[in-house]
Amino acid sequence: MFICDNIGEKGGHLTFAGRDVTLLAKKYGTPLYLMDENKIRENCRIYKNAFKKYFGENALPLFASKAASFKRLYEIMTEEKMGTDVVSAGEIYTAVKAGFDLKNAYFHSNNKTDFDIEFAISNGIGYFVADNIEELSAIDREAGKKGIKQNVLLRITPGIDPHTFEAISTGKVDSKFGSAIETGQALEITKQALGMENIKLCGFHCHIGSQIFETEPFFKAGLVMLDFIADIKAKLGFEAEQLNLGGGYGVRYTESDPVFDIEKSIGELAKAMKEKAAALKINMPKILMEPGRSIVGNAGMTLYTAGTVKIIPGFKSYVSIDGGMPDNPRYALYKSDYTVYNASKTDKEVGFECSVVGRCCESGDIIQENVNLVKPERGDIIAVLTTGAYNYSMASNYNRIGKPPVVMLDGEKDYIAVKGETLEDIVRNDI
Ligand SMILES: *Cc1c(COP(=O)(O)O)cnc(C)c1O
Repeated sequence: MFICDNIGEKGGHLTFAGRDVTLLAKKYGTPLYLMDENKIRENCRIYKNAFKKYFGENALPLFASKAASFKRLYEIMTEEKMGTDVVSAGEIYTAVKAGFDLKNAYFHSNNKTDFDIEFAISNGIGYFVADNIEELSAIDREAGKKGIKQNVLLRITPGIDPHTFEAISTGKVDSKFGSAIETGQALEITKQALGMENIKLCGFHCHIGSQIFETEPFFKAGLVMLDFIADIKAKLGFEAEQLNLGGGYGVRYTESDPVFDIEKSIGELAKAMKEKAAALKINMPKILMEPGRSIVGNAGMTLYTAGTVKIIPGFKSYVSIDGGMPDNPRYALYKSDYTVYNASKTDKEVGFECSVVGRCCESGDIIQENVNLVKPERGDIIAVLTTGAYNYSMASNYNRIGKPPVVMLDGEKDYIAVKGETLEDIVRNDI
């Protein structure tokens, strides 16, 4: 069994979205990012439908741009009636270029520069999610210059530890993000926001972490946030219109990750939150969430060509591929798990234990350690699954390696959504 229903096997070759990946590798070359357009849409609809069913008509899922940002994706998000969250002028610019309506865009980050703030307001960003008081003041100043009242949510740290990997856990009090309830800073920033002339406070935001396969952390965060909203109402007379619960649902990278029902989890969350809001005698705010990974993660696959296959007697074996940490830095950063296949030989027995490594001058340039493959030969296509999130968006030009193209698969059609970088692109900005 494969870890996702868009993966398969035909005639000894791996398939993705019903397509023989070795043929796609031949057509476009490797390394190659593939994206399954229908899976992206299907994932959007899981959120859209569950939100409508459990939280009501006006609840809105926002695609977290940082998971994957390029023009075609914003067109798809427009068609799927998703909002988006953005964290830089670059992501805003990309969305604008794709015709995305920024009314449904929420601007994050823990340190928006003056340039970012001015750029976002000039482009008519729907909402800022302000991280701290300094930033809020800067937004107030800039909105004042432009003569507008800017919609703002405040990023609150609810003090939840979602038990995921440290580097991707963000809801704890000791975090570079947000203003903590526990320290009184959340109350303080709310007070200040309500006093600012050019700020329209619309509600609150929290984001507790990533790659979460339980409802419980969202539960806890949702309930803590409702308590906070009730407390603010009692103390300051302000009732939040919006509550954004951030992103974080997990995707399956390997067999050992559970199959998780996001719709069911959202249903449970909504039930608990509605009960809580009723008990606190507050209105249920408009609910937002910001899924990134769970929208595009399993819609992506990366293809490489095997080069050197090195067997070190008494030690481990290495399969070197024609990509690596420049196109997927996640193992180097977080020791992330991935499932790897020899896509050219799915009809043969596995049994070759090896590490799949990149071609950079860096011993940490590893895609995955200790995988069990059908023994590759030079020229075989190696597929790494579930690379749709945080691969292309985290790619670099380390060792002056160009970023691979992103090719979209849509039924029988395949098309380039992002061109691969050429050698000319590599020197484009060198004077
Ligand atoms: C990273 C992030 C997300 C998306 O998280 P996923 O785990 O990819 O769903 C959403 N909101 C904020 C504020 C984030 O930092």
